[in-house]
Amino acid sequence: MRKPIIVGNWKMNKTITEAKEFIAAVDPHVTDKATFGVATSFLALNEAIKDAKNLIIAAENCHFEDNGAFTGEVSVPMLQEIGTKYCIIGHSERRQMFGDTDETVNKKAVKLIHSGITPIICCGETLEEFEAGKTEEVVRRQVNAALQGLCEKCTANVVIAYEPIWAIGTGKSATKEIANDTCGIVRSEVEKMFGKETAEQVRIQYGGSVKPENIKEYMAMEHIDGALIGGASLKADSFISIINAID
Ligand code: 13P
Repeated sequence: MRKPIIVGNWKMNKTITEAKEFIAAVDPHVTDKATFGVATSFLALNEAIKDAKNLIIAAENCHFEDNGAFTGEVSVPMLQEIGTKYCIIGHSERRQMFGDTDETVNKKAVKLIHSGITPIICCGETLEEFEAGKTEEVVRRQVNAALQGLCEKCTANVVIAYEPIWAIGTGKSATKEIANDTCGIVRSEVEKMFGKETAEQVRIQYGGSVKPENIKEYMAMEHIDGALIGGASLKADSFISIINAID
């Protein structure tokens, strides 16, 4: 039985003070129906990890080298030192604006797993690819590349988020059928690479305009084990409504 995982991705939002206020308001409402958490800026991470008793706190990115001349980057040992347990990698915003590739996402996944941090690996097609019927091809390629060199046991612990780029921040969420079909494709790629047992354990999230009003319908689908939520994760009330929707 896969435990659902619902993570808010704050992106470049919330100062340390705002992050602390959110955690103080939301943390007492967390239930054991799912793993609930938020991904904060690097700057807020340390305080957020200290404050959160129930929420899991994730980083939004990392570098794959331990140290070196990489101005502005944050390494996995740095994340480890402050007790980071989850890290988003390969978000489409990073792929589109900051040069992340299938290859660097794979290097980050391998580094994180070997360091005991669970990667939340993002994949998803552009609107153009969706309209050209290339979703399956793109998602299989991204998932296959991201998991290269991992073992079955390590892969069972990863989280994969399917986020169609056309549904991110647009209010135009994928239908539950489309989201479920593509999460099923993700699972089938994992099965092709690592076998059925591993594929049955991997947790797959849908992301893209998820909110309190629609989360239940996604969570009812076979292959959707959770959500990665942007805009609707920023307000405490909205996130509490999302928590309460999972029963
Ligand atoms: P929205 O929920 O704002 O569409 O963002 C989704 C997302 O990118 C989460 O990583």
